[in-house]
Amino acid sequence: KPSLEHCFKLMLLLLALGGVTMHVPDADVLSSLGALRLDGHFSFHDTSAMARDFGNRCSLLPAAVLHPGSVSDIATTLRHVFSLGERSPLTVAARGHGHSLMGQSQAAGGIVVRMESLRGSDRLQVVHGGMSPFVDAPGGELWINVLHETLKHGLAPKSWTDYLHLTVGGTLSNAGVSGQAFRHGPQVSNVNQLEIVTGRGDVVTCSPEENSDLFYAALGGLGQFGIITKARIALEPAPKMVRWIRVLYSDFASFTEDQEMLIMAENTFDYIEGFVIINRTGILNNWRTSFKPQDPVQASRFQSDGRVLYCLELTKNFNSDEADIMEQEVTALLSRLRYIRSTLFHTDVTYLEFLDRVHTSEVKLRAQGLWEVPHPWLNLLIPRSSIQRFAKEVFGKILKDSNNGPILLYPVNKSKWDNRTSVVIPDEEIFYLVGFLSSAPSLSGHGSVAHAMNLNNQIVEFCEEADIGMKQYLAPYTTQQQWKAHFGARWETFERRKHTYDPLAILAPGQKIFPKAS
Ligand code: FAD
Repeated sequence: KPSLEHCFKLMLLLLALGGVTMHVPDADVLSSLGALRLDGHFSFHDTSAMARDFGNRCSLLPAAVLHPGSVSDIATTLRHVFSLGERSPLTVAARGHGHSLMGQSQAAGGIVVRMESLRGSDRLQVVHGGMSPFVDAPGGELWINVLHETLKHGLAPKSWTDYLHLTVGGTLSNAGVSGQAFRHGPQVSNVNQLEIVTGRGDVVTCSPEENSDLFYAALGGLGQFGIITKARIALEPAPKMVRWIRVLYSDFASFTEDQEMLIMAENTFDYIEGFVIINRTGILNNWRTSFKPQDPVQASRFQSDGRVLYCLELTKNFNSDEADIMEQEVTALLSRLRYIRSTLFHTDVTYLEFLDRVHTSEVKLRAQGLWEVPHPWLNLLIPRSSIQRFAKEVFGKILKDSNNGPILLYPVNKSKWDNRTSVVIPDEEIFYLVGFLSSAPSLSGHGSVAHAMNLNNQIVEFCEEADIGMKQYLAPYTTQQQWKAHFGARWETFERRKHTYDPLAILAPGQKIFPKAS
């Protein structure tokens, strides 16, 4: 095994060769980490795997990786880093599954806490609790494992992300949005309690009743206030099956009006999303989905012929003895919609298959080497009052060709979001999540990062110039000034909470909100 000092010198050499300048801790500081009494351990020589993420566009080498064996390891480490004082450059980033887009879970020259070390079915506890069942899950647990465990009890979380190989702490630090959010709110609206290790190294249990300021700070808090080590997640009875439906529109106004009508209706679908299809052939061969309609021949014949089309995606949950009622309800709901009548496609799958749909595509893309490519994604929250203007410019002018990846577009309602959390959303009752989920498999041309970024920049510039009232989700801002503008009137609260829970700005440096003083 190379010595600590050796690793440290090697790291400095590599950084110098790469022309990278950054604050790195000295050898004594690293030795002091190695001397901490832990249930798990630090590693200093295999840090490069922690300098990557799904975005694949940012690589910041940490000095050390903590593989915690317990929550107290995280507390011990943070207490130690805090004790080094404000002159120490050492920072700490929790890493969930590393599915950030621009280095948000990385720590240049700092410590990455590998949260997945603290996961496992023995750490997941499902409590039936009468009318309000819940699961206590470690912050580093993947949502897919939470689902597997809760399904054993006939239960499941209420609110999801489209992809489940993300961690509980990672999505709760952002918001966690999918097609169930219109009914249940985002994932941050479905948590009853958190256990958090603050930037001072204190282990705090918090909820709406107890230490509520920290509770709301951490939800959507971009990892700034503490490391979420446990979350109590609300559950509901899980259905066995799902009727999964797609219908197409050529008219954007009808598409969005129908979406809005559905999210406001009393008895409606269980999941409502939508996506935009630009100049595509074989439009159902979408990478994000394992959707196999019952009439594949008819479905594959349907071509967009250069048109922009809008696909409404819906599900209705059911158990096998409820199939007839489900059919009636679906028929009644569909009869109220204005889609192109020949474009109704549906399939019945298990609840698990539906929720884990993106993973099926991941497996296929991995096999072709197309998963670990750069992902210059852009996620926007657009107020309802601007969505037509936005669509006219973006889908009518800026995006001319089919892009490399899906474009999501669906409405959610603000009343389901708690404004005490740190999440920033537009100030309007209905707003749209619009996700441009591009992959950049080539170095030049249409499949390149440069091409996608050029389009992203045009879209953002348009939103700013036209005063659309847009907020970015998973925002990759790089200066405090940009973050202040993002938070607007809420910046003061965010900053106050930072001073309270992480006064030395040790946590989540990759978000680039509070530079560490040194
Ligand atoms: P990481 O990327 O590892 O971490 C994210 C941030 O949270 C970092 O700043 C990190 O330091 C911090 N963090 C991580 N764990 C903790 C913790 N325990 N406590 C405190 N801070 C922590 N998002 C949606 O809302 N809806 C979607 O439908 C959706 N679909 C996605 C599909 C794919 C294929 C991918 C790659 C991402 C998707 N996301 C979606 C985005 C996802 O929410 C973010 O990538 C998020 O960062 C979660 O990833 P992660 O668990 O790997 O966390």
